[in-house]
Amino acid sequence: MQGSNDTFAAVDGALHCEGVSLATIAETVGTPVYVYSTAMFRQQARTFRDGLKDAGRVHLAFAIKANPNLAVLRVLAQEGYGADVVSGGEMQRALAAGIAPADIVFSGVGKTRRELTAALDAGIGQFNLELEEEGEVLAAIAHARGQRAPATLRINPDVDAGTHAKISTGRRENKFGVPIDQAVEMYGRLAELDGLSMRGVAIHIGSQLFDLAPLEGAYERVGELVAELRRFGHFISRIDLGGGLGVHYKAGDVPPSAAEYGDMVARVTQDWDVELMFEPGRVLTANAGVLLTEVIWVKPGAVNPYVIVDAAMNDLARPALYDAWHDFVAVHPSGNRMTANIAGPVCESGDTFAMGRDIDLVSSGDLAVFRSAGAYGATMASTYNSRALVPEVLVDGDRYAVVADRIQPETILAAERVPDWLKA
Ligand SMILES: *Cc1c(COP(=O)(O)O)cnc(C)c1O
Repeated sequence: MQGSNDTFAAVDGALHCEGVSLATIAETVGTPVYVYSTAMFRQQARTFRDGLKDAGRVHLAFAIKANPNLAVLRVLAQEGYGADVVSGGEMQRALAAGIAPADIVFSGVGKTRRELTAALDAGIGQFNLELEEEGEVLAAIAHARGQRAPATLRINPDVDAGTHAKISTGRRENKFGVPIDQAVEMYGRLAELDGLSMRGVAIHIGSQLFDLAPLEGAYERVGELVAELRRFGHFISRIDLGGGLGVHYKAGDVPPSAAEYGDMVARVTQDWDVELMFEPGRVLTANAGVLLTEVIWVKPGAVNPYVIVDAAMNDLARPALYDAWHDFVAVHPSGNRMTANIAGPVCESGDTFAMGRDIDLVSSGDLAVFRSAGAYGATMASTYNSRALVPEVLVDGDRYAVVADRIQPETILAAERVPDWLKA
């Protein structure tokens, strides 16, 4: 099961999202389409917060790269979440969703001068610095404007998070953060700068973490660093512990619960006397979304048949990018099963969602969903193969709304130009 109280369930043999039949959404909006459950977003947001109830002063910032849809941000803002942003575009979204600038944290290894300036204009709450030069540049821009930028220094604790290489961020050889053994001196230099107000340190060691031990090890290193920084007389008021908590994608997956995570955090940080910041992404949204698709063909294959669906790697990149697993479930399951490969129409062998999978028996014209698609799904979509940009629908009880339009190929074509010299 995908959540403690699954909001995607069959009603009279037909898969629903809360009170809305997915067949109705397919009929009115078309496929492929992402469908999100407001109740599940709220449930996950509350569960994560409750898990941290013994962790003292806590600030929650949703890592909006996981699902930056404006309506989703509104729901999470209503649940008291600020935003962790990694680009100027994400900052614009957070502000447009009504998130207070003070509740916005700017992470990311390549913030440009233009983005730093825009974030100072907006008056965001915190910059997580990724290298010393970034701090110097930010300080200079802020000082010239008569501002002091609130900042933390992102540490690379050199731990192996035990997750997929493409979502590991806390190893020495990764591009993120500064080496922990250089942190004290660097922090000291940054704290001297007029345009900065250094508040503490930040870490984020990776995503889809199933083992709390590497996180605990990293947090302990942070604790030692904080003690050392304080010995040097630095004022430390905030520690940003990042995101990364794993979620259930397939049968047998047992990610740490929010309560287990929270207990670990409370134990490790009990003497820190700081405001703890968190940047959860996936854990809040992954299981609140599905990608609804229609079977185009069932094509005979050498070993197993290929179920060719109208969703593709451009709509949901995770299987192609990380060999990720998404459960595939028929909207009207007959009870019969088949063993099949599932693939999209894109002209790449990598456009394959599953091989040799035991699934509900489906045939041409049937509807099905890829589950657990609410994080790193629509946000990674592209228009590769000149396909439309996939739309998004938000369900709340018995109502639903299209919260992102399907952007048709002609709209994208209209933004392209043939220069004069090619027109003759
Ligand atoms: C991606 C990211 C997160 C969120 O990670 P999840 O695994 O989705 O929780 C948090 N902080 C930073 C800096 C990130 O880059």
